[in-house]
Amino acid sequence: MNKKTVKDVDVKGKKVLVRCDFNVPMKDGVITDENRIIGALPTIKYLMEQGAKVVLCSHMGKPHNVFDSKLELNKKEKAKIAELPEAEQAAATEEALEKAKKDVKKLTLAPVAARLNELLGGKVTFATDVVSEDAKAKVAACKAGECVLLENLRFHKGEEKKTPEFMNALASFAEVYVNDAFGTAHRSHASTAGIVEEGLVKTAACGFLIEKELSVMADTLENPQRPFVAILGGAKVADKLNVISNRLEKCDTLVIGGGMAYTFIKAQGGKIGTSLVDEEKIDYCKEMMEKAKKLGKQLVLPVDTVAAKAFPSPIDAPIETAVFASNEIPDDMMGLDIGPKTKALFAEVVANAKSVIWNGPMGVFENPVLAEGTKAVAQALANVYGKATTIIGGGDSAAAVQVLGYADKMSHISTGGGASLELFEGKVLPGIACLNDK
Ligand code: AMP
Repeated sequence: MNKKTVKDVDVKGKKVLVRCDFNVPMKDGVITDENRIIGALPTIKYLMEQGAKVVLCSHMGKPHNVFDSKLELNKKEKAKIAELPEAEQAAATEEALEKAKKDVKKLTLAPVAARLNELLGGKVTFATDVVSEDAKAKVAACKAGECVLLENLRFHKGEEKKTPEFMNALASFAEVYVNDAFGTAHRSHASTAGIVEEGLVKTAACGFLIEKELSVMADTLENPQRPFVAILGGAKVADKLNVISNRLEKCDTLVIGGGMAYTFIKAQGGKIGTSLVDEEKIDYCKEMMEKAKKLGKQLVLPVDTVAAKAFPSPIDAPIETAVFASNEIPDDMMGLDIGPKTKALFAEVVANAKSVIWNGPMGVFENPVLAEGTKAVAQALANVYGKATTIIGGGDSAAAVQVLGYADKMSHISTGGGASLELFEGKVLPGIACLNDK
């Protein structure tokens, strides 16, 4: 990797703004999975030990409105209210502002600050706004070896809109910029790339987390041990067009499961009942099958499927299922998971691999009855631990691996679903491109 890391820059006594990914799952104000916080610690500890004044920032969820210092409705909401009869507008505004207040409570980073403070020996303070009075005061008071965590970046509209006012304010906290949020590296927001792209901060490096993501994934993509197997699942072909095409070029075998497989099966002339299908992508699937043939690559599709009369509702409701050949699904049935023969087939492909990259579930894994295919793939990957490089590309597959207790049986679990997919597509990630070259 040719980008500077924290180890390549002088941070002693300097204000170092670190973009982290503290977008942790929370329930009723309690953090339910602190993996992302733990993952950020090596970079933060290193900077503290080097005597930096560490200013941490992150987004959390998707706030509907903008809050920095004062609540403000967003444009869309204002326009919606403006369409109402005049007599109703004041009440509607009031109601929207109440909702916004609830967002502030739900999406504050205060619980993250409290946990970080415990983990870092009481050296973390929390700024109750993003770049306003409290943030300025707390950053000014921050001593070498201490940390300030700013409030949720998306509480300020300037974060996503990259307004000059916000970027200047944020950059005033950064003599050095460090990006350690791989999960948002595919976006160009003020904190993920903007302030560096605009030249407001000159010294910019990555943290240890991004360094690891890049070295593992780039190594595997550029120089894989073969056979190199890519497994793709999830709902729609349309979402993964470039990934399918790109992986066919890079890997030896492309395995396709999940909802997206049925469009391929239909493209082969199979009967898929009421299974998910991207009608507009049937020709694309034919093209990909042709491409695989031409390149001498294997494209492996499900041979059988677990089907039901309808999609489960709610998603985890009890469901009656039956198994069919994947090209002979009855007209009134819907394929919702890979079947037993396919589980064995996919496991065999994995057993013979030297590198495996996996994105996306094999079925509607949110339902325990339909999670078996996804579990089987996770198990197959765990079985080759130590013999093959196994990479989980974030998102649902990462969650499945964690829940099943296989996390320490994988070579690498990416912290960024969207970012890792874009990396696999061969795209340049703005959050990494903006960093200083070595
Ligand atoms: P994606 O966001 O494209 O990775 O897709 C993930 C979603 O695909 C999950 O919520 C799964 O429930 C869904 N999914 C997987 N297999 C199927 C299927 N056979 N039919 C419908 N949805 C599916």
